[in-house]
Amino acid sequence: MGPTMEKFVSTLQEWLTADDIIQNIEGCLGCGNCSQACAWYLGTGDERLRPNFRSDFIRKIYRRYLSPEGKVLGKLGIYSTPTTLDLKREMDVFWKCTACGRCSLACPRGINNRRLTRIGRAAYTDSGFSKDNLTVRNIIENTASSNHSFGHSVMEVFAKVGLMLRYEDVEIPIDVYGAEYLFVCPAAGNTKIPELGIKIPKILNAAGISYTMTSGIVDTGTDVDHIAVNMELTRRLLVKMEEEAQRLGVQKIFVAECGCDVRTFYVEATEILGRPFRFPIVHIDTVIYEAIMNGQLPVEPIDQSVTFHDPCYVTRLSGLGEQYRDFMNLLVKDFREMTPNREYNYCCNAGSGGLAVAENADIYRKISVIKAEQIKNTGAELVTSPCAICYVSLKNITEYYGIATDGERKAMMFFEIIYEAVKKALLDKGEYHRVKTPLLHKDRDELFLERHSLNGFLRKLQESPEYSELLQRLAVNPNVINYAGENPGFDEYLQLQIGESGVSQATGQAAS
Ligand code: SF4
Ligand code: SF4
Repeated sequence: MGPTMEKFVSTLQEWLTADDIIQNIEGCLGCGNCSQACAWYLGTGDERLRPNFRSDFIRKIYRRYLSPEGKVLGKLGIYSTPTTLDLKREMDVFWKCTACGRCSLACPRGINNRRLTRIGRAAYTDSGFSKDNLTVRNIIENTASSNHSFGHSVMEVFAKVGLMLRYEDVEIPIDVYGAEYLFVCPAAGNTKIPELGIKIPKILNAAGISYTMTSGIVDTGTDVDHIAVNMELTRRLLVKMEEEAQRLGVQKIFVAECGCDVRTFYVEATEILGRPFRFPIVHIDTVIYEAIMNGQLPVEPIDQSVTFHDPCYVTRLSGLGEQYRDFMNLLVKDFREMTPNREYNYCCNAGSGGLAVAENADIYRKISVIKAEQIKNTGAELVTSPCAICYVSLKNITEYYGIATDGERKAMMFFEIIYEAVKKALLDKGEYHRVKTPLLHKDRDELFLERHSLNGFLRKLQESPEYSELLQRLAVNPNVINYAGENPGFDEYLQLQIGESGVSQATGQAAS
C-alpha cells in the first residue's frame, strides 16, 4: 500500500465506528431499494450514482485493508485490491450526492449511506486527492488562510452589509460583552444572501432579543465541514466560535437559517471535537418563535399562498420540521404542503456541494425537475425554506423551470416570510421604528456606541487605506447591484461614500 492509499485508509479507520462496521459496512443486502429514494439516481439512471455504489466502494477498501481477513484473502485474490487509480476514478461520485440521507428511509436495514459518503470525502481530502476538485481546493485554501470559505475578510463582510444597514438606519451590536446570544452568519449566507444580515437584525431588534455579532469571525465552517469534509479545519473553526463566545461572555450561540450549520452544531460538532460543544446551541427561528408566542414580537399573517421546502439537514436529519409547520401557520394565511413533505421531502440537490461543485451543473439542473414539479403542484405563489443553500437552489429552480417569470421572485428565505409578517404588524401599530435599535444599544453613552455599533465600526474602517478600494469593489458586487435595484437611492448613497472615501484618502496622503 502506497502512502496516499495508506492515508486514505487511516482516515477511514479514524472515523468508522464499531456501529458503522456492523451496520453500514457489513449490513447491506445489496437490494438497491435506496436508489429509488435518491434524486441523483432517479433523475439520471446512472448506475454510478446509486447510493450503494459509493458505499460499496468504501466497503471494498475497508474489507481489503482494514478487516481482519482482508490481508489474507486479498493476497489470495479472493478480495479485490483497490488501487490509487481506483480512488481517482471514483472520486467524482463522492461529490455527486448531497448527503441528504433520504436513501436511508428506503433501506430495510437503515444503512447510513450519507455517513459513508462523508467519511469517504474526509479520506479523499486527507489523502490529498480532493485538491483536484477546484471547489474543494478553494474552500480548504480560503478557510486555512482567512477562516472564511470564500476568502472574505471581516472588513469586507461588515462593509457590504454594513452600508446597506446604515442606509436603512438600522444598527447592530458588535462585540458587546454579556449578551445572551452570539450570532455568526455562515459564509454562504454573508456572501450570497445579504438579506440575512439585514432582515435578521431587524427582527431581533424589534423583538428586543439580547444578541451580539462579533468582529472576530465571519464564518461558521459550514463549507469546510460539509463540502470539503476537512475535519481539522472544521475543528479549528468550532474552537474559534467557542473562544469568541467565551471572550464576549455570551450564554448561548444562535444557529442561523443554514441546514449545514444546524447539522454541524447539533450533531457533528461532538464527533469532530471529541467532546460536547462548550456552549448551548439554539436555532434562531426557535428564539423568534418564542418571542412571538410571548407577545414580544407582533406578526400579521401575509396574504400570499406559500409552500415550504424542508431542508434535509433541518427536518430529516435534525428533527426540526414540525416546529416549522406551527410557525408557518402563524405567518401565512394560506400554507400549502408540498408532496411528499417533512422527512420524505425531496432534497434541493444543492447542499454539501451539489450546486457549488461546478462539474455538477448539468446533472443538478436535470434532477431538479423533481423539486420543480413538487413546487408547481402546490400552485403556491411563493416557496420558502429555512436554509441559505436550499433558498439559492429554489431560486434557481423556480427561474429555470419557468415558475418565476420576468424577474418575479418566487423563492424566499424563511426569515423573509417572518420579516414580512412582522413588518405588516409593526406598520399597522405605527411601531416600525422598533427594527432600528438593538436592545443592547438602549440607554448607552456615546463612547459605548462608538465601540460597539456598526456606525463606529464603519468609521474605523474609513480610516483604513484599503477602504476606498473596497468600496469600488463593492460597487460591482452582484449583491450590492441587486440591493441597489430594489432600493432606489442606494446607488447615489454608495457613490457619495466612494467620493468621500477618495477625498479622505487623498487628504490622509497629503497630510502624511
Ligand atoms: S444521501 Fe441523498 S443524495 Fe446522497 S445517495 Fe442518499 S439520497 Fe442520494
Ligand atoms: S437499500 Fe439498504 S440494504 Fe438495500 S442496497 Fe441500499 S443500502 Fe444496501
